[in-house]
Amino acid sequence: MTASYDVAIIGSGAGGGTLAYALANAGKKVLLLERGTFLPREKENWDPHAVCHEARYNTKDMWHNQFGEKFNPHNHYWVGGNTKMYGAVLFRLRQQDFGQIKHHGGISPAWPLSYQDFAPWYTKAERLYSVHGERGIDPTDPPGEPYAYPPLSHEPRIQEVVDGIRKTGLHPFPLPVGIRLDEAHPETSQCIRCNTCDGFPCLVHAKADAHTTCVMPAIATGNVTLRTNAKVLKLHTDASGRQVTKIEAEVNGRHEEFQADIVSVSCGAANSAALLQMSANDKHPKGLGNNGSGLLGRNYMCHLNSAVVSIGKKPNPTKFQKTFGVNDFYFGGPGFEYPMGHFQMLGKMSKEMIAEGAPFFAPGMALDYIAHHSIDWWVTSEDLPDPNNHVEAGKDGGITLHYTPNNDEGHTRLLDRLKRLTHEIGTDMVVMPKRGFLSARIPLAGVAHQIGTCKFGADPKTSVLDTNCKVHDIDNLYVVDGSFFVSSAAVNPALTIIANALRVAEHLVSRLK
Ligand SMILES: Cc1cc2nc3c(=O)[nH]c(=O)nc-3n(C[C@H](O)[C@H](O)[C@H](O)COP(=O)(O)OP(=O)(O)OC[C@H]3O[C@@H](n4cnc5c(N)ncnc54)[C@H](O)[C@@H]3O)c2cc1C
Ligand code: SF4
Repeated sequence: MTASYDVAIIGSGAGGGTLAYALANAGKKVLLLERGTFLPREKENWDPHAVCHEARYNTKDMWHNQFGEKFNPHNHYWVGGNTKMYGAVLFRLRQQDFGQIKHHGGISPAWPLSYQDFAPWYTKAERLYSVHGERGIDPTDPPGEPYAYPPLSHEPRIQEVVDGIRKTGLHPFPLPVGIRLDEAHPETSQCIRCNTCDGFPCLVHAKADAHTTCVMPAIATGNVTLRTNAKVLKLHTDASGRQVTKIEAEVNGRHEEFQADIVSVSCGAANSAALLQMSANDKHPKGLGNNGSGLLGRNYMCHLNSAVVSIGKKPNPTKFQKTFGVNDFYFGGPGFEYPMGHFQMLGKMSKEMIAEGAPFFAPGMALDYIAHHSIDWWVTSEDLPDPNNHVEAGKDGGITLHYTPNNDEGHTRLLDRLKRLTHEIGTDMVVMPKRGFLSARIPLAGVAHQIGTCKFGADPKTSVLDTNCKVHDIDNLYVVDGSFFVSSAAVNPALTIIANALRVAEHLVSRLK
């Protein structure tokens, strides 16, 4: 057993890395246990073949679906977690997302806290993660402080697309993006505005990921001990079952144990639920956090996501394409009174990336043409929390993901609407038929937006965590990552995870006083 710490954080991604940053800056002694290592800086960081075809930075773990079929989840185990690969589009949930909303497929339930409770933490999170944007152009934008950094400019072809969409009466708006880009001073800007950002690690460390934004500055305070290659296997409680007393881990292949006054599980929604289930004991026979509600691991959500490509006659030489989104259909549209969701630009597709999704769609020559002309879209709609959609950890720690998509109608209608829109602006939508990164619908392996599994709430009978993200029936155990979400909304989740980590950090600092 090694020294004791104020807080041990398991996982260094958006939730854990941010929590470590805030606690370390408040003078708390933090142990950060991360199953991965530092992602190497190497030429392959920006090589589409290595990243997309060879999946160089993906976990090699295999999970199962509910039918027993194996799949390789698109999960990334590095210092910084999935943010090493993310597109850094950092949205606030819409104000209404915190209340109950009626969807075609059912009810999106209310959160136990309001938008106003999160607003100050969103502001801090946006500043910390260098979010560029412009408030008030998006018709669904919630009220908030102006962004500290100006919106990213559109490259000429994307400006034409934005102008074309505006002419149809819609309201494209600058995407909120967390990159350290200074367009006014390109000679000193950390970000060079390249075409390998969304889905790639940043070779020059200019993306505001949890590693460079939080973990490294946290270590620099002298208050953080980071152990890499440290996979936590089990948490042990005292005989009463109310206190976590020991963390059991495999560190560089060797068994080690750790202690801390407070423990935060921050492994990402699927792995956090699995770790809590694997920590079952006499007092918690179905896992830590399951007692009151039976909901541990349940209500897994991941959004309904589609990646689509439209092509027109004009070439698209854009490098950094992820500069606008459209939310006009977020809460519904003409002829459909229910929410549909949101679409935004994808990172610019290269020939290699398109080939991943389309070898039998188009012969080699056509792929070149598509890559030079494509406008690439990411379409997201809300999936609803369903207790049957759940994470199940096997005895060996292997994960089975039981998931049946729901609330499909709005997503289908949004895709139809986008198809019309792409035609109106002089392009035509090409749907990629092969399952994989570029399939029209992102398959189960696309766990990028995994959330839910440990919903927070005031009532221990209907939630796993309390409103401070503490496990209801354990006094020193918290879950601080994407697991706490009550509903998925239809915008990217990371800013809410980051803002929540800052919120919980403040609670922990006052508790540790
Ligand atoms: C390609 C891609 C693009 C994305 N783009 C966006 C985007 O543009 N905007 C957005 O909002 N979101 C985006 N996301 C999603 C975003 O990255 C996640 O929502 C966010 O990182 C989740 O944070 P987290 O703290 O829940 O988990 P993670 O960031 O995944 O961190 C979990 C950490 O826990 C570690 N871990 C797991 N199990 C253990 C264990 N047993 N012991 C020790 N350590 C463990 C993992 O290695 C990892 O470092 C994207 C994701 C991907 C993959
Ligand atoms: S666009 Fe900027 S932040 Fe993104 S990978 Fe390229 S250099 Fe890094």
